[in-house]
Amino acid sequence: MIIVLKSNVSDGELQHVLERVESLGFKTHLSRGTFRTILGLIGDETKTTPGELLTIPGVADVIPVMPPYKLACKEAHPQPSVVVVGGVKIGGGNLAMIAGPCSVEEPERMDAIAAAVVKAGANIYRGGAYKPRTSPYSFQGLGVEGLKILRETGQKHGVPVVTEVTDTRNVDKVAEYADMIQIGARNMQNFALLTEVGQTKRPVLLKRGMSATIEDLLMSAEYILSQGNNDVVLCERGVKGFDKHTRNLYDIAAVAVVKGLSHLPIIVDPSHATGRPDLIPPCALAGIAVGADGVHIEVHDCPEKAKSDGPQALLPAQYAEVCEQIRQLAALFGKTISPSPGAN
Ligand code: PEP
Ligand code: MN
Repeated sequence: MIIVLKSNVSDGELQHVLERVESLGFKTHLSRGTFRTILGLIGDETKTTPGELLTIPGVADVIPVMPPYKLACKEAHPQPSVVVVGGVKIGGGNLAMIAGPCSVEEPERMDAIAAAVVKAGANIYRGGAYKPRTSPYSFQGLGVEGLKILRETGQKHGVPVVTEVTDTRNVDKVAEYADMIQIGARNMQNFALLTEVGQTKRPVLLKRGMSATIEDLLMSAEYILSQGNNDVVLCERGVKGFDKHTRNLYDIAAVAVVKGLSHLPIIVDPSHATGRPDLIPPCALAGIAVGADGVHIEVHDCPEKAKSDGPQALLPAQYAEVCEQIRQLAALFGKTISPSPGAN
């Protein structure tokens, strides 16, 4: 961290600043210019915050040198991390193809959708058993019954499964049935939930909150990493926008920004980002083109009967088409779709 002192800082104030930062465990390096004096701090930046140092009399500015997400940042791990979900690799040139309905539904339907998406190229099956709905009167998910259906369907089709957890009380149950735990946009800053999933051994799919900055997203990932769980995959799913033509504002540049800041894999979810089946295929391809480590797409064989998010579901045939296009694009970038362990 670098402290810039006020131009009129007195000798007494400077002495006090030195004593304060040394008491925090820092070594100091003083540099006196013609107009300004700056103080370099050498030591563990987590021992203080810029805000705390700014309150010391004589301090004009504090410039952090390291990002506050010290485990998620690239400096901590220069190579891209590869997260393995039930045998499927995500990151480092391996693409996750996560697909399935928004909610877990009855077993026959889950089976039919799984058969179609796995045949098309999906390597992780999704479905929510606990749904975070805006209205308390909307379908809330099948709960534990849904977890069982999802797991059985995944096992039958030889693919790992991902499902959302919305409540700290259900983390153990979700970790028991799922290969990957999803933290949804609405819970990205539910710090108790992040801490709890950080204590499991399951990989976590962390979706960007709808009004979260990129730094907020990385700090939320840091909560999980700091608990000892290194398997975090980020997901750009759109932030709140002002235009009514898409459900959210698909922040595609965020993928490239994150790639420059962090070693963690990041995938895109054009389903929730756009909310429109006609826009999902081109936006999925755009995500891969900008560097995403996979795509997360909602698919339903009868969207009019879907328990949630029917209007944004792709039909299985549309999904198969986008998979083929992604395969071609991935080859162009030297990336591959990680096969699911049960694929033949
Ligand atoms: C979902 O994946 O179905 C979901 C609710 O996503 P998000 O948290 O991104 O809205
Ligand atoms: Mn959904």
